[in-house]
Amino acid sequence: MTEIKQCQNCKQEFIIEPDDFAFYEKMNVPPPTFCPDCRYQRRIANRNEWNFYKRDCTLCGNSMVSIYNPSYPGPVYCQPCWWSDKWDPLSYGQDFDFSKTFFEQFFEFRFKVPRVALANSKSINSEYTNQSENNKNCYMVVAVGESEDCMYGNWNRLSKNCMDCWSVMECEIMYECLNCRYDYKCFFTEDSRNSRDLYFCRDCMGCNDCFGCVGLRGKSYCWFNEQLTKEEYQKRLTEISWTHEDIQSIRKRADEFWLKYPRKYYQGRNAINSTGENLGSGDKNVHYGFNVRLSENTSYAQDAWEARDCMDLTETLDNELDYEMEGAGWGANCISMAKSWYNRNSYYSELNFNCHDIFGCMSLRSKSYCIFNKQYTEDEYKNLKEKIIAHMKKTGEWGQFFPAKISPFPYNDSLAQDYFPLTKDEVIARGLKWYDRDVRDYKVTLPHEKLPAKINDVTDSILQEIISCSSQDSETDKASHLRCATAFRLHPAELQFYRRFNLSIPHKCFPCRLQERLARRNPRKLWHRQCMCDGSTSSPQAKNHFHGADKCPNEFETSYAPDRKEIVYCESCYNSEVA
Ligand SMILES: [Zn+2]
Ligand SMILES: [Zn+2]
Ligand SMILES: [Zn+2]
Ligand SMILES: [Zn+2]
Ligand SMILES: [Zn+2]
Repeated sequence: MTEIKQCQNCKQEFIIEPDDFAFYEKMNVPPPTFCPDCRYQRRIANRNEWNFYKRDCTLCGNSMVSIYNPSYPGPVYCQPCWWSDKWDPLSYGQDFDFSKTFFEQFFEFRFKVPRVALANSKSINSEYTNQSENNKNCYMVVAVGESEDCMYGNWNRLSKNCMDCWSVMECEIMYECLNCRYDYKCFFTEDSRNSRDLYFCRDCMGCNDCFGCVGLRGKSYCWFNEQLTKEEYQKRLTEISWTHEDIQSIRKRADEFWLKYPRKYYQGRNAINSTGENLGSGDKNVHYGFNVRLSENTSYAQDAWEARDCMDLTETLDNELDYEMEGAGWGANCISMAKSWYNRNSYYSELNFNCHDIFGCMSLRSKSYCIFNKQYTEDEYKNLKEKIIAHMKKTGEWGQFFPAKISPFPYNDSLAQDYFPLTKDEVIARGLKWYDRDVRDYKVTLPHEKLPAKINDVTDSILQEIISCSSQDSETDKASHLRCATAFRLHPAELQFYRRFNLSIPHKCFPCRLQERLARRNPRKLWHRQCMCDGSTSSPQAKNHFHGADKCPNEFETSYAPDRKEIVYCESCYNSEVA
């Protein structure tokens, strides 16, 4: 039976579905006391993606890039030290104290055991990358893998030469693109695949050489959905001057043009009995999934791929029967694990790799039957584990993820500040940490207004300049761009990219560009709505709609809020229009 509960955190009501109860029973956890949003916020309050700091390795003293800011009180090791045998994580072992809560003890413990500076492995020449692996020559990327020469992006996989992109897979030469697959040489393009040479396009499949288009299949030389000859298309393309102002105004025109065409109630294709956004074929019984693909029977997950029978996952890959996980991959039968890979039957642990049967552990590699980094025999472990679970059930901790209060990151360094932004006063009022950054007093040498309009007029000396970010021009922009760096410099590889593709220099710093790019996605919330197709809006080439001239009766959960301008269709009506 569906149950309505009040969230202990935000006091809003939330629903627990009948299927959810079966899962909680299977995992031996009580039903949640936080609503799905507050659970998401709690997980990402434990995650810092983008805030990099220079600090020295506590073991070898070398300077390194780290996600732990200078106020972090515990030891932080560089990659080579942390992965070496120069230290023993078991030397931090301690007994469980039944006179205290679990989280009280873990709070102290997690600041005592050395952490690795960045979650980043097997990468070459990619110092400023986090939650990433197997990359080469990448700079300022997060959650990126098997990629080369990528900059300023997140969720890229198997991609090359992509700049300022979100979620591009098996793509090459992409700029300011979101959610693209198997594309080559696309600019300012979204939700497109198997295409090349697209500019300002949306939802185009198997297309090439198109500009400003939306919802096309297998087309070439189209200009705002108008078919041109190859010659006419090329003529128009050469007439674009690619100044900063031009790019801004084309972008605006494309956004307005796209609005005239219906869009499907979710991004993705053929997700079966699923709700969410950025879903894919291969998804079955996924609910409240945001960027969840190739997953089954999984609910309340964000940026989670290949999950089976899981709930409450954030930034995960290949999980089975897992609950409340953050940055954890290739695991099974785990509860409340953070930044841990290849673990099974493990609970409430952080930064562990290739372990099984561990509880309350930190920074272990290839260990088993450990509690608070103390080694036990299998029998001892199982006995003590049951006692701790009983203790945590009494304290109300069992089944809850690490509270934001014991996060290793101040709230404003965590990813929670991106999805659930709070002011300093609000953060303090909630008993969370806030980090006062050093005042930014970059001496701007080139105000962005003075940037040359065309890239051809830019000389190499620009690499020496400190350019002001245009978000600083207005008070409203300043207030909404909380992470603005106020000024920025260009990376040589970045300049080379702009020159090669005739693109003007951006007028905003990277954190502002990232924020604006991610804001182009829908919010990670769902509304119940009806298909807006009324049988009269079909385009001339549309196939017959199943509902004829009547209004389509289909209803769905969508991340398009009811007051938005987009025309939102069910999958069937949408496919009648574009497929
Ligand atoms: Zn809540
Ligand atoms: Zn070191
Ligand atoms: Zn900025
Ligand atoms: Zn419909
Ligand atoms: Zn219809």
